[in-house]
Amino acid sequence: MNTLIANFKMNMSPEETKNYLITFLSRYESDKLDLTLCLPYTSLYVGNYLCKGKGIRIGAQNLSDEETGRNTGEVSGNMLKGSGVDYVIVGHSERRKKFKEDSKAINRKIKVALKNGIGLILCVGESLIDRNTLKTKEVLKEQIEGALKGLYENELERVIIAYEPIWAVGTGQTPSAKEIDSAVKEVRKVISDDFSEVASKSIRIVYGGSIDSKNVKQFLSCKNIDGFLVGHACLDANEFLKICSLVR
Ligand code: PEP
Repeated sequence: MNTLIANFKMNMSPEETKNYLITFLSRYESDKLDLTLCLPYTSLYVGNYLCKGKGIRIGAQNLSDEETGRNTGEVSGNMLKGSGVDYVIVGHSERRKKFKEDSKAINRKIKVALKNGIGLILCVGESLIDRNTLKTKEVLKEQIEGALKGLYENELERVIIAYEPIWAVGTGQTPSAKEIDSAVKEVRKVISDDFSEVASKSIRIVYGGSIDSKNVKQFLSCKNIDGFLVGHACLDANEFLKICSLVR
């Protein structure tokens, strides 16, 4: 368990990111963690500059599903690669809901990212209604199969799946360790059925949804996950440093 992903969402100007990183990097011990900071586009430059040589990956939070062209305001895979981005988040529940991103668009984004040498953090997860109507497994299967359609097995090495139940993202609620384990087992089963058992064992899966320095300890024993995706709790450098030291 040593993968940690921070999703800064739509927070921090470049100047604020700079101040945050100066505090964070002054106490961050990089040796055992595989840390990716998913910054807003406008902070990628400062993130890359300050994190260079510190063993931290820089991630983005979105990319266009097209390679180039007349797409005012969009950012392409090629632009992200040129900005030093190693990973990009796709399928986040906020984008699925607010921007109506469906599995087909997510699948196109994944292919564009891989073509440009960028790894993926693919978010999947059920809503409260899905959960209450016992549809979690069905939803996870649909989301994973839709997103990974047409990929070669070796491309999964560049994919991290983030299991993020929608009802837990930004709400302060979390599933139990047992519930996470059961959902992640399903994720691995889908990968095993569609790719191979080897792929299902080796693909990295993290849990995301209201993780903070107080509750993270109860999930450290989840054997089926490789780490966490942290949203609001990463915005305070001291709080995030605590999480880093607990997870590594
Ligand atoms: C997220 O945005 O993916 C997330 C997990 O947020 P939070 O930790 O705030 O629930």
